[in-house]
Amino acid sequence: MSQSHSLITELQTKIHEKDPGQVEFLQAIDEFFSNLTPFLDKHPEISEKHILDMITEPERVLQFRVPWQDDQGEWRINRGFRVQFNSAIGPYKGGLRFHPSVNLSILKFLGFEQIFKNALTGLPIGGGKGGSDFDPKGKSDSEIMRFCQSFMTELHRHIGPNLDVPAGDIGVGGREIGYLYGQYKRLRGNDQGVLTGKGLTFGGSLARTEATGYGLVYFVKHLLANSDDSFKDKTVLVSGSGNVAIYAIEKVHALGGLVVTASDSSGYIYDPEGINLDLLKDIKEVKRERLTEYVKARPSATYVAGESVWQHQVKADIALPCATQNEIDTEGAKRLIENGVKIVAEGANMPTTLAAVDILHAEQVTYCPGKAANAGGVAVSALEMSQNSARLAWTFDYVDQELDKIMQMIYENCRDTAAEFGLENNLLAGANIAGFKKVAEAMLAQGLV
Ligand code: GLU
Repeated sequence: MSQSHSLITELQTKIHEKDPGQVEFLQAIDEFFSNLTPFLDKHPEISEKHILDMITEPERVLQFRVPWQDDQGEWRINRGFRVQFNSAIGPYKGGLRFHPSVNLSILKFLGFEQIFKNALTGLPIGGGKGGSDFDPKGKSDSEIMRFCQSFMTELHRHIGPNLDVPAGDIGVGGREIGYLYGQYKRLRGNDQGVLTGKGLTFGGSLARTEATGYGLVYFVKHLLANSDDSFKDKTVLVSGSGNVAIYAIEKVHALGGLVVTASDSSGYIYDPEGINLDLLKDIKEVKRERLTEYVKARPSATYVAGESVWQHQVKADIALPCATQNEIDTEGAKRLIENGVKIVAEGANMPTTLAAVDILHAEQVTYCPGKAANAGGVAVSALEMSQNSARLAWTFDYVDQELDKIMQMIYENCRDTAAEFGLENNLLAGANIAGFKKVAEAMLAQGLV
């Protein structure tokens, strides 16, 4: 056992002891540490200067009260957070998640992943994440607005275009970013670079809405091209029906593949003729309804209530989990293998459990971790920041082409880094090492801060 290996085990034990209840954060730590040894063996200065101890501790964690009034006049109190994890390579950058499951563990896992994801984009952005345990489901538009205003009434003093730039995540889309920005402007003035994912009329970037889903598919496109293959005639399984899933489906169809599933928190749809995107967009983006509406309008589709799409039995080539963390467990991974799936690429953050990843790797399924495969969203967020500073608005095609180039660069970086350390085809190792290398170099150069 090398010295780096025992150092890692020691640190891992220390973190597990320090934050025993933070299950998701510890899972992200374990996943990150699982393949760092070959890199640390070659770079003893990283261990000597305790970079790993520093990088696993957030620079700052903010927690605050979010009081708001519902439509009945009742006072409601939620909990708000912002985890400012690492600013070595740029201002903290990462989304806000509004979901009842949100707690410090989930935001620390997301913030930690975000550090390396953002580093992989090649753009100067640090890692952060925030959100609230507020449940947007069933809330009226006015309730959403009042909640966002109250959330920003506290958050505004901790963010800024050169300090921390939040964006959307689960439960936070264009509507919420609009309300959050409105309140920021009221308190601090027009400073558009403080949030990304804004509306196109007030500093938003074309192609930002599509970026995570499109970027995910571009990543897989470059992976397929590496073995002279393409999306043409591939059957694709997608989970989720939010912003990431919708635009992943759109791009797969544009490249000649067929997506046959989508899901929401109550169940999933299987449509052997291919998901009808206009219908899905109308239900999810316009009417904000449940997926049960889809099968009412589409005779070819079936709805399976209360089950995971990853239990569905159907021959497929590629799986794109775009719903939430830990949706693919060992059972799901085994089913994917039975279904013939050869590539799993994560549109969501950490949708595959560590044990499931091991199963996929053991069966030579190419596993593309979210921190690489879904980095297109935050990459275009960084391009939105550039446009805001330059007071320019680039065309859709220009941003889309930049996104494609960034995803190609990320794929090649992960592939080549894995190979450099003798871990061929392990894109998780490639992503972790390549992302960490950049952040660690910046931390070393900036001294003990
Ligand atoms: N929430 C997205 C992510 O997980 C985007 C973050 C951003 O654009 O800042 O990467």
